[in-house]
Amino acid sequence: MSDKGKVIKRLGGIRCPRCNKEIDFFNFSAKVEHFGLWDDINSWETRDYGDWSNLKLACPHCDKVLFTNEDKALKFLQGEG
Ligand SMILES: [Zn+2]
Repeated sequence: MSDKGKVIKRLGGIRCPRCNKEIDFFNFSAKVEHFGLWDDINSWETRDYGDWSNLKLACPHCDKVLFTNEDKALKFLQGEG
């Protein structure tokens, strides 16, 4: 999920195809599987994340879901989509 340390080139001027406002990030929602420990004192302690599903990446201006695939969204933001 993470690309820590990777330099991301940003072109700017990437626009939402629906509302035509400039976007450089998406709002996302996803169903995420958690793995962890449960007891009667600390309750839920997530130790790891499993599969992500139902990923939705939406325009922060108009809330239109533009992508359900991280790779395609990445290419879009980097001007290759
Ligand atoms: Zn939009």
